[in-house]
Amino acid sequence: MTAVTTRADCVARDQRDPLRALRERFDLPDGIIYLDGNSLGARPKAALARAQEVVSREWGQDLIKSWNTAGWFDLPKRLGNRLAPLIGANEGEVVVTDTTSLNLFKALAAALQLQAEGAGAGRRTIVTERSNFPTDIYMAEGLTQWLDRGYRVRLVDSVDEIPAAVDADCAVLMLTHVNYRTGYQHDMAELTRHAHAAGALAVWDLAHSAGAVPVDLHAANADFAVGCTYKYLNGGPGAPAFIWVPQRHQAAFAHPLTGWWSHAKPFAMSHGFAACEGIGRALCGTQPVLSLALVECGLEVFEETTMAAIREKSLGLTDLFIELVESTCGDHPLGLVTPREHARRGSQASFTHPHGYAVMAALIARGVIGDYREPEIMRFGFTPLYTSFADVWDAVAILKDILDREAYDTRAERSAVT
Ligand SMILES: *Cc1c(COP(=O)(O)O)cnc(C)c1O
Repeated sequence: MTAVTTRADCVARDQRDPLRALRERFDLPDGIIYLDGNSLGARPKAALARAQEVVSREWGQDLIKSWNTAGWFDLPKRLGNRLAPLIGANEGEVVVTDTTSLNLFKALAAALQLQAEGAGAGRRTIVTERSNFPTDIYMAEGLTQWLDRGYRVRLVDSVDEIPAAVDADCAVLMLTHVNYRTGYQHDMAELTRHAHAAGALAVWDLAHSAGAVPVDLHAANADFAVGCTYKYLNGGPGAPAFIWVPQRHQAAFAHPLTGWWSHAKPFAMSHGFAACEGIGRALCGTQPVLSLALVECGLEVFEETTMAAIREKSLGLTDLFIELVESTCGDHPLGLVTPREHARRGSQASFTHPHGYAVMAALIARGVIGDYREPEIMRFGFTPLYTSFADVWDAVAILKDILDREAYDTRAERSAVT
């Protein structure tokens, strides 16, 4: 049997951690162990000065000139190019814009259109998992119902059912790469290969992948992808999302949200829509510049390390968390729902507990911030840029104390946002 990890072991590991210095790039309050970067990333220190610059100089002094002089108009593309290396995309293939929900709508509409105009004409289903993040399913259902062309969404209940569901009627396989609740990570390359072999297109949601796990969209030969910037990419609350359209699909990329930002000549103010060339086609209308500008502060931090280094530490943190919870809280009814197998794990660890909501509320009150997802799931996200091994040790010690003393209130009222 291996010796139990001590706090001193964790501190020593932190001293050897090559990412250690990056924690200084974030403003985290004292006394907080933040394990919710999978839901809202922490604030890069640089974001405050950047926000001040955009508000006081770019907007306040330069006013409307800033669309040109401060590069506001090009921001979606410029940020997309900075984000691209994190997901295995090329320059000119990503824009940061709109929300994940909206970008998914655009990607799905474009994928259905591609199929309808090609060998996939007649295919009518979008296949996804019932356990997918609800908005992804809502958007797919909304799109298919509004199109009224016989399309429908087919939900599968387990990963094993996916291959058979991608049949001769499947137009699009739409999956979220890392499941928001369990942290299960799909084999993107394998499932995309399967989809293509069956004549379907593969659309991937990277909400819990971008900045969390290495992603190589080109190596996987994916068709379209979308994702969040306010989670692991630390872009700020409600920061715009991103959409990836590979070069090979750009000429045929068309969606119904044909706003003026995707027009070939937006300032010609002409009648009739004519799409621009390239990734600009994925845009729709004017963006929230202040929020968009702050995304850059999060992306800058990633340029000081690699996704391989982040992944190595992420697996170290989640392995340690699982080991400590199981070795010290083993008497309590906790159930690990995150895969133990590294290849199948994202950057989180989730445990069920019959009083999961109340236990999480007690943890938050003690400064350990994770979150709760139905049913019974306590979710802990690990962000290697600012989470230390000692944080993991301390978080588990507090969890053990709360469980041992039953120091949680099962009757407490739930907040609107859990
Ligand atoms: C977080 C998340 C979203 C969020 O979508 P919004 O449009 O930003 O609200 C969508 N899909 C998945 C899979 C997510 O994890």
